[in-house]
Amino acid sequence: MIYNNIKIELRNGVISDISPSEGKIVLIIDEQIHIFEEASLSFGFIDSHLHFFGIGEVALMPNFQTCNSESEMIDLLKSQPFYRGDWLVGFGWNQENLPDAKFPTKDLFDNAFPDTPIFLRRIDGHSALINSAAARILGINDQSVFDRTGFIHKNEAGVFTGLLIDGAMTSVLDKIPLYSPEQIYKILDYSQNLLLNLGITEVVDMDFNPLLFQFFKKYDEDGKFIIKIHSFIQAQDDYWLKINDLPYKGNNWNIIGIKLYMDGAIGSRSAALLEEYSDDPNNFGLLLLDKTSLSNKISQAFSRNLQVAIHSIGDRATKIILETINTYPNEIILPIRIEHSQIIDQYDYHFFNNPNIIASVQPIHYVSDTINGMAQKRLGTLRVDNAYPWKSLLINGSTMVAGSDAPIESPNPFFGIDALINSARHSELVSINQAIASYIDIPYKLLHNTLPSLNIGSSPNIVILDSSFKNTKSIANTKVLAVIINGILIKI
Ligand SMILES: [Zn+2]
Repeated sequence: MIYNNIKIELRNGVISDISPSEGKIVLIIDEQIHIFEEASLSFGFIDSHLHFFGIGEVALMPNFQTCNSESEMIDLLKSQPFYRGDWLVGFGWNQENLPDAKFPTKDLFDNAFPDTPIFLRRIDGHSALINSAAARILGINDQSVFDRTGFIHKNEAGVFTGLLIDGAMTSVLDKIPLYSPEQIYKILDYSQNLLLNLGITEVVDMDFNPLLFQFFKKYDEDGKFIIKIHSFIQAQDDYWLKINDLPYKGNNWNIIGIKLYMDGAIGSRSAALLEEYSDDPNNFGLLLLDKTSLSNKISQAFSRNLQVAIHSIGDRATKIILETINTYPNEIILPIRIEHSQIIDQYDYHFFNNPNIIASVQPIHYVSDTINGMAQKRLGTLRVDNAYPWKSLLINGSTMVAGSDAPIESPNPFFGIDALINSARHSELVSINQAIASYIDIPYKLLHNTLPSLNIGSSPNIVILDSSFKNTKSIANTKVLAVIINGILIKI
């Protein structure tokens, strides 16, 4: 719901009066009058899939997105060193920007950093470059093998080049020292400020790292979380079972569920498909869980009163989740979220007409995946036309919530709304009201069992926007003029 002509008076964080106001938004906060012309007022935005810690983490480390050579990467690493323990870390390189689109190798980095271990993640977060100092610590050599979810890259001579891919990368993450407490709190500050400035007042935080538990808890107990955070804890392995306090309920930070991975991603051809990749015959992608282990993990979560969020990009992965849910021996008592919901067999759409099956979509992925033709190459144009099926999901009665997957994408909710309503050549667009609902009303209902409302006596989350939304083509440029959380003015 967007309001264009409204006057709201707040006293001590509580609405004391609401009345119409011709052509403008008027806010009176403890006698201070703020008038906004050509503006609108809405409830705070809810991002239903992001990585809260990752946002600040990635922003504070060197970002190689604009580097066009390995030596530029090395210069940046030297001029903006960011340490995790005694390791140098960085993010955002893309071989497409390097000479001949060749993947970087550890050689130049070994010369520059002979003794300091480095760990530099690729832009999509699915692979990382390490140097020889890091390989020594991790015990990785030319002979190393990983399970089928990951591998190391070797040259023609069989020599490890420094690249860790998918499971090989994630399996070493817990061997890199954790940040210092000061760094962790600085990262949390950064993530929160960035989101607040975009009008986001509540988030669903995916892949919460159990090692950060005590830091989030302290930050929350110190009253530092202003926005509300609902975390889903990493649960692909069983480490989370050691945490006794689940579900965790703090002031503004909660752990409400577990996060699983059913498959990989389209870019690395690891999303599990019903038909082979168009640019890689006989490759149907990778399933990371079978039906039995998925069913067991759902039981483990439900028995602790935790929801389940499952990363599922390909149509085969989602079909197996739906089959598992449909043959699950007990009642589905809590929401099961299909994260990404990118490619779905049309015969499976009707299963989404179930209030406990949530389609969690990241509209901006459609733009990023198709703008350079990546998705078209992997899937062929016919499958892309039917993918990212936002409209079909809604027609079939789905509870659809939207998010950004930040820091992989910008967390700006207006980019997501723009993708949902304006994406070029997409037949699955939805209306502006449906788009806004997927960022406000639907997730709010899911998290609070009620809809947001403006009532005298309430302390709402409100944002003031610089657009009247009359021209929906320019919605991506919308700016946030003010943010009020629980009736308190946070930003103006
Ligand atoms: Zn994600």
